[in-house]
Amino acid sequence: LIDLIAFDADDTLWHNENLYSHAQERLQELLTPYHSGDGVVDELYRTEMDNLPAFGYGIKSFALSMIETAIRVTAGRIDGPGIQKIIDLAKEMKQAPVQLLEHVAEVIPVLSASHTLMLLTKGDLFDQESKIARSGLACHFMHIEIVSTKTVKVYHSLLSRHRIEPQRFLMVGNSLRSDVLPVVALGGHAVFIPYHVTWAHETVAKPEDSAPAPYVQLEHLGLLPAYVEQLCQRDDGTEGGL
Ligand SMILES: [Mg+2]
Repeated sequence: LIDLIAFDADDTLWHNENLYSHAQERLQELLTPYHSGDGVVDELYRTEMDNLPAFGYGIKSFALSMIETAIRVTAGRIDGPGIQKIIDLAKEMKQAPVQLLEHVAEVIPVLSASHTLMLLTKGDLFDQESKIARSGLACHFMHIEIVSTKTVKVYHSLLSRHRIEPQRFLMVGNSLRSDVLPVVALGGHAVFIPYHVTWAHETVAKPEDSAPAPYVQLEHLGLLPAYVEQLCQRDDGTEGGL
């Protein structure tokens, strides 16, 4: 049996990465008076990675990394109004409407009727809380957890705190690195639902083909209720056979 189903939020329940891709394109445009634009995206990614330990995830950190990148690639020539445009870009990102992915609005209420659901996301607390409130989904989640990273250690302490056995935990998300592999490492269940764009930081090599995948990959969230039912029946069968 599954006692708790946890969902990642960004690019699992609502669109997120497209906001960042769009902002990157806008940054390149903004820098055209100073710079050819070539290599800006790579430079921005390097800056984000350098800043991650200091600033964490989210739009505010991304804004600081965009500013730092702009200063560096223009060799300090970007002016005050140029910086202001980058700040405005970040404000637009924060105000962008929350757009649910396909099937989310139907599937979440259905699963919440039969299972305890948790929203488990990393990122900036203020930003994530605002998105959860605007998504209209908050009422279906018994628990909402906003963490700074999703490592084996973080999942372990979260499950202990909620007194959930890993074998009775199912995590659903679009990142192999954050949502799937750490949960599988603990002996939990994971469903991987890829989003059409993956942030470079979240990409990992897939486990070797020869090894059986210890997680399930679904094409979209609409297929999840059937999988959950199958998982619970399989568990029942095992218990009945003993
Ligand atoms: Mg995600």
